[in-house]
Amino acid sequence: MLDIDALTRLRDDFADSLGKVSTAADLQLLRDTVLGRKAGAITALYGTLGGLSTDRKREVGRALNELKAFVEAGLDARKTQLEAASAPMPSADLTLAPRPLPVGSRHPLNAMRERIERIFARMGYEILDGPETEDDWHNFEALNMPADHPARDTQDTLYLQQPFAQGTRATGDARSGVSLRPATLLRTHTSAMQIRYMERGAPPVRIIAPGRVYRRDNLDLTHTPMFQQVEALVVGEDVTMADLKGTLLGFAREFFDQRTPIMFKPSFFPYTEPSAEVFVGCQSCFGSGCSMCKRTGWIEIGGSGMVHPSVFEAVGIDPERYTGFAFGMGIERLALLAHRVDDIRAFYENDLRLLEQFAS
Ligand SMILES: [Zn+2]
Repeated sequence: MLDIDALTRLRDDFADSLGKVSTAADLQLLRDTVLGRKAGAITALYGTLGGLSTDRKREVGRALNELKAFVEAGLDARKTQLEAASAPMPSADLTLAPRPLPVGSRHPLNAMRERIERIFARMGYEILDGPETEDDWHNFEALNMPADHPARDTQDTLYLQQPFAQGTRATGDARSGVSLRPATLLRTHTSAMQIRYMERGAPPVRIIAPGRVYRRDNLDLTHTPMFQQVEALVVGEDVTMADLKGTLLGFAREFFDQRTPIMFKPSFFPYTEPSAEVFVGCQSCFGSGCSMCKRTGWIEIGGSGMVHPSVFEAVGIDPERYTGFAFGMGIERLALLAHRVDDIRAFYENDLRLLEQFAS
């Protein structure tokens, strides 16, 4: 019996079957089942229209036409979907440039140290390397800091082995119960290298000694327990404070800017006499005063002075014949100034996003 309900069921069955079709062959089978010229369900229904009354024929005919249009549209849409899914992937574009591989760069502090070394190498300085563990003699004693010297504050020094044994042996003599042994410590400054170098032979001396040094400092904006210094030592027969000033001025102008002024401010260090702190003109405000230079227009970059005669005597150099100058600077401090960074920790936290900005 041909009626509208039968058409609705056919429409629902078709929609069901269409949803399950996953290949072109399945789709062709479904098309044949519904629209095939010989066995198609809709084709067969068209064949039955002849037995209907004229009014009925018009009503059912219109419904059949709609169903046929719905089926054809569904079959076509599914065909397009299946073709898109089976289309080959676009092939690789071999002309594209390869994605760059991440490569390392110099750590900003190493780059800074090398830059300083290059400047002094051009001025004819020899670059020295030395031990980071030192003994009391090279780190203090020979640098005019005897055992009771206030600059030897043990609060600042990281000892690997204290100068005195911890316990006393039970012997008759109280004094022999204290066994002296040499202190071993992490060097608090690279000045120890100057002693080692001068012990080797007679002047002239023209060296820089860059390297890590250690202090018992807590980590903050401007301090780390380990940092890097570079020290210079020049010894000869007519070395004067004017040579010191000329050398530092030459360095500052090479390092910062050709117009950079320097200033000496009298100071005290046990191993130099006279001694002076070294300032350069603030690179941020060019002398007019800003927060970086604490409104002074000057930034301290290190300490300097003429080698103390006691230091020459300690290493067997005649202080009547020879004079010399020395100065030391913090490499981190120079890096902070050069990169205009205000937190020293940035260099030690190993955040690649930050370190890459200083890559050179
Ligand atoms: Zn300033």
